[in-house]
Amino acid sequence: MDRIYLDNAATVPVLPEAVKAMEPYFGAEWGNPSAKNLPGLRAGKALEEARRRTAAALGCADYDVCFTSGGTESDMLALLRLGRGHVITTAIEHSAVISACRMLEGFGAEVTYVMPGSGGAVDPDDVARAIRPDTSLIAVMYANNETGVLQPVEEIAGIARERGITFFTDAVQAPDPAAVVSCGADVFSLSGHKLGAPKGSGLLCVRKGIRIARDGEQEYGIRPGTQNVAFAFALSAALESKPDLCRVEALRDRLERRILDTVPSAVVNGEGRRVPGILNVSFPGAESEGILFLLGEGGVDAAAGSACTSSSPSHVLTAMGLSAERVSSAVRFSVGRMNTEEEIDRAAEVLRDAVRRIIGK
Ligand code: PLP
Repeated sequence: MDRIYLDNAATVPVLPEAVKAMEPYFGAEWGNPSAKNLPGLRAGKALEEARRRTAAALGCADYDVCFTSGGTESDMLALLRLGRGHVITTAIEHSAVISACRMLEGFGAEVTYVMPGSGGAVDPDDVARAIRPDTSLIAVMYANNETGVLQPVEEIAGIARERGITFFTDAVQAPDPAAVVSCGADVFSLSGHKLGAPKGSGLLCVRKGIRIARDGEQEYGIRPGTQNVAFAFALSAALESKPDLCRVEALRDRLERRILDTVPSAVVNGEGRRVPGILNVSFPGAESEGILFLLGEGGVDAAAGSACTSSSPSHVLTAMGLSAERVSSAVRFSVGRMNTEEEIDRAAEVLRDAVRRIIGK
């Protein structure tokens, strides 16, 4: 039996068009893009072509588009290169941002962690209230990776602009990366492997004119190191291939309905605007580990939360003020372009049986 993959927020397979775009750079086009010899000049020209295609797909011509090794590195670069004095972030950021904030604190910076409401979104007024004369950076994610709740980034970008503070958004879970620029972020990060490029590919986009610490030669002095031309092309190809988000949302809503109809104890975590693919549900009376085990046995792959921090109780659901029972029984299902209605219906049946087996009803 084919497995049913419902962990698309963790990673997705590499798209065939991304594989095709990479091929020449594993063969004839092997030069170092920084070298001044012929193979190097060819590679350098190709890299700029990939950068141009990437910027065009994102609609961000007035940004420096830096290729990185992924979302984590992009987040770290943004925080460590922009944060000084006082930084505002949220308690629900990905561990990459939280870890970078802890590092900044170790270097003497102060960080305010804004709490979300019980629905999973932060309030822009709380962000505004946290601003101090020495605030250098506001970092608020575009969409939360566990609940899928979209954050009010347009409003926060407006507040930051008014106060002359740089605004960074971790846009790794943005459903449509091409829409991120219009939220007004000065700097944003993306991860290639969430979009159909290989793991180890990512982007940090920095609006031209933003003051950011730069050193080294490559990638505008923001991400030094020999670039991976193959992955740069994979990213541009993945960004050009857009999923049908309405279809993904319809599948997610179908799964949500099926679960709420068949598992009486189920309660959805996260309210308001959510990304189309993510559904976070708690099953009080059961533990997520047990549910995931039985789902796995039944051929369904889901997650307890973020793949990077799935061993500990979710800091996101805890920050939302949910009960310990709700936090420990949460499962994240994330639907993607490869899923079908049949898979959704089958997954809901496997889940219903799993919860019944655990709580005995
Ligand atoms: N930020 C968010 C919101 C994420 O969901 C993830 C990955 O799950 C990352 C950052 C890290 O991205 P990467 O896996 O490319 O390092």
